[in-house]
Amino acid sequence: MLQFINDLRSEIMSPWKGLENINRIVVKIGSSTLTQETGRINYEIIEKLIRQISNLKNSGYEVVLVSSGAVAAGLSFLSGYKRPMHMRQKQACAAVGQVALIHIYRKIFGEYGRNIGQILLTKADIADRERYLNARDALFELIDNDIIPIINENDAVVTDDIKVGDNDTLSALVSNLVESDLLIILSDIDGLYDKNPQKYDDAQLIHIVENIDDKIIACAGGSGSSNGTGGMITKLKAAEIVTAFGGNMIIAKGTEENILNRLVSGEPLGTIFLKNKKALNAKKQWIGYGADFEGEIIIDLGAKNAILNKKSLLPVGIKKVEGNFERGSIVRIVDEEKKIIAKGISNYKSDDLKKIMGVQSNEIESILGFNDYNEAIHVNNITVKEM
Ligand code: ADP
Repeated sequence: MLQFINDLRSEIMSPWKGLENINRIVVKIGSSTLTQETGRINYEIIEKLIRQISNLKNSGYEVVLVSSGAVAAGLSFLSGYKRPMHMRQKQACAAVGQVALIHIYRKIFGEYGRNIGQILLTKADIADRERYLNARDALFELIDNDIIPIINENDAVVTDDIKVGDNDTLSALVSNLVESDLLIILSDIDGLYDKNPQKYDDAQLIHIVENIDDKIIACAGGSGSSNGTGGMITKLKAAEIVTAFGGNMIIAKGTEENILNRLVSGEPLGTIFLKNKKALNAKKQWIGYGADFEGEIIIDLGAKNAILNKKSLLPVGIKKVEGNFERGSIVRIVDEEKKIIAKGISNYKSDDLKKIMGVQSNEIESILGFNDYNEAIHVNNITVKEM
């Protein structure tokens, strides 16, 4: 019955159909997909997924890859190491394995004419604002240059207490960091079931999740329950993070034929977690009403009209910058009559904005020596004051 209702709903609503218009995708490949039963790397599946990602790139999508598998790759080289391992052994294994893994990616993506760039993150890179912005800049630079970022947690240097902890959560944080439209978590299972399918033959696949409520969490065994496997729980945590920031997430089976391309073609596979529309507004509400402002930007009439028409604020429309603030700060945007128009998150610190105000975006680089953003404040980070 549940299956029937799910099928009917997915046919009527098919949120997968809406995926045809997306642009930026984060793909997370889990250890269970990348490794064989022996715990060692599965080259065939890696090759297949790389081919699919290369196809996505050829179709015009921007793809960021979060890949597990460093420890598994390391095991192939360190014959003296066997699971379970101590922390130090795991770190060494990750250090050796990460190089091997990235070598595989480099080699195969290279065969498809694709460049990759490796970014190893730790929790502090996301928790600390400055480092967060640095990581974001690096990722955007790679994406803008058509390079596929491949991300993993820096397992060789992190210990349990300074870890994001699992790549499901990491991929969700990365998805928010790069403001992706969709996170696809590829696993060894074809989605979220109403109970653990490894234990219960009658477990049914849930196609669409609109709210991650207690009932959904209970499907994964619930934390503290004896049925609980870290596996699905961390994926639900990832879904909470992504959907709260206005992204969609899908859990699907990595070994399913041509899975990535079929998903973005709108085929209803796996479990889709729909973005929380209210939460998206909450971010804008926070900018507009929740957060204090640390400076003020005075804009001309053209920029005012642009902002009121849901456009970004470009440096060319800025007349004056007041206060001292860092990039990423909340600022108030006012017109020349000092009327408050909006609030937003500045892409540049005040000193830099003062240097580039009134100039065209293509001149930013020659003035500052770098051009991180064409916009002073991106439209996604502007909340217009209700008149
Ligand atoms: P990965 O390495 O891809 O992150 P995991 O092995 O950590 O994958 O998690 C996937 C596993 O979670 C499944 O193979 C399954 O055994 C388990 N699982 C537990 N509860 C559920 C559920 N309700 N639906 C689907 N899978 C579940």
